[in-house]
Amino acid sequence: SEIYSKSEKMEKIAIMGGTFDPIHHGHLVIAEQIRCEYSLDKVIFIPAGIPPHKTGLQVSDSKHRYAMALLATVTNPYFEVSKIEIEDENISYTIHTIKKLKQIYKENTELFFITGADAICDIESWKDVDELLHICRFIAATRPGLESPFVDEKIKDLQKKYQAEIHQIDVPALAISSTDIRRRVTSNQSIKYLVPESVEYYIYKNGLYR
Ligand code: ATP
Ligand code: MG
Repeated sequence: SEIYSKSEKMEKIAIMGGTFDPIHHGHLVIAEQIRCEYSLDKVIFIPAGIPPHKTGLQVSDSKHRYAMALLATVTNPYFEVSKIEIEDENISYTIHTIKKLKQIYKENTELFFITGADAICDIESWKDVDELLHICRFIAATRPGLESPFVDEKIKDLQKKYQAEIHQIDVPALAISSTDIRRRVTSNQSIKYLVPESVEYYIYKNGLYR
């Protein structure tokens, strides 16, 4: 009966995709809040190899973004970092990643995908949005800069248009972005308390964003 109950138990896993250049407390706070509210077994952070929306932009080497994600998550036993996208030399499309993970985890896993409000509002520009919204549940967290009536409307539209399952969740608003952190480093401003201390030291030690 032990084996039986084990195989019957649905594992709940959330994926958090991003460029993570660098990972910051905004990412970590939303992941932890969602983990607790949804009683998730784990959250897998997946740094993009080649982010589709940032092909024209300068992105740090994936080895650095992966290392920072590892450093930032070591203190949380429920957080993992996956190399699935950075080991693939193709552009990192979420649809491909979710399909691969579904192969790995099979039926007894419920998969969620975590985004911020900006990402969910932009999701129609993602590859194969129709299929993507069908094969995975989405949880969208509030993000400063995006007003809630606008986001609510957008999510309602997506739910109707694609019969998508998109949950909305309120997190303590942290107006932190990787863009702002990179700018601060470039202009010698402090990034203390915006990122974990280990990430702060990693950035300086490796001369990132100079
Ligand atoms: P950049 O400024 O380089 O775009 P970012 O801070 O937006 O970086 P990403 O790696 O692009 O970080 O984001 C990964 C995911 O995390 C996205 O779904 C994004 O919406 C979400 N996210 C990032 N920062 C926050 C935040 N402060 N609050 C809520 N969601 C966030
Ligand atoms: Mg972003």
